[in-house]
Amino acid sequence: MEGEEAMSQNKKALSVVFSAMVLMAIAIGGFWLVQKTKPEVCSICERSIHPHSSAVVLIEGKRVRVCCIRCGITHNFQVGKPGEVVQVTEFLSDRQMKPSDAFYVEGSQVSMCDPHQKSLMDQTKHPYHRIFDRCEPSTYAFAKREDAENFVRDNGGKLLTWDELKKEAGGKQ
Ligand SMILES: [Zn+2]
Repeated sequence: MEGEEAMSQNKKALSVVFSAMVLMAIAIGGFWLVQKTKPEVCSICERSIHPHSSAVVLIEGKRVRVCCIRCGITHNFQVGKPGEVVQVTEFLSDRQMKPSDAFYVEGSQVSMCDPHQKSLMDQTKHPYHRIFDRCEPSTYAFAKREDAENFVRDNGGKLLTWDELKKEAGGKQ
């Protein structure tokens, strides 16, 4: 008799532990899902990070993914440390590249960063930037010079090498 009682006690304890584990698994799973589906945002400007334009910059020694190359460059000049972009995304393939290996198109009419001031267009239909926007002019990276040239032909903008881009961004500050 005693043995049987002990066993049912054991079973009860086990089922309590089991339910607790199931609850925990659901909680962890739910948390993971929320984390997973939350859109990644730029830690500098809090815009959503677009897969074609994101870049990785070093901020205080840590690799941080930002919404676009321009945002990272702007940040670096603001903190007085130019050239700390360590990775850029190839616009066409979403491939990660070393900044110095890519060609850049600056100031085209394509803007991945959530547009501001859409109503402010001049007669040429180009956005008229009255206010400072850290992600403008838009800047995209291309692995091949030819691809960058095609992009300029279709969307306007200026083709720059990494060195030219850094120099140009630095001159504005
Ligand atoms: Zn940003």
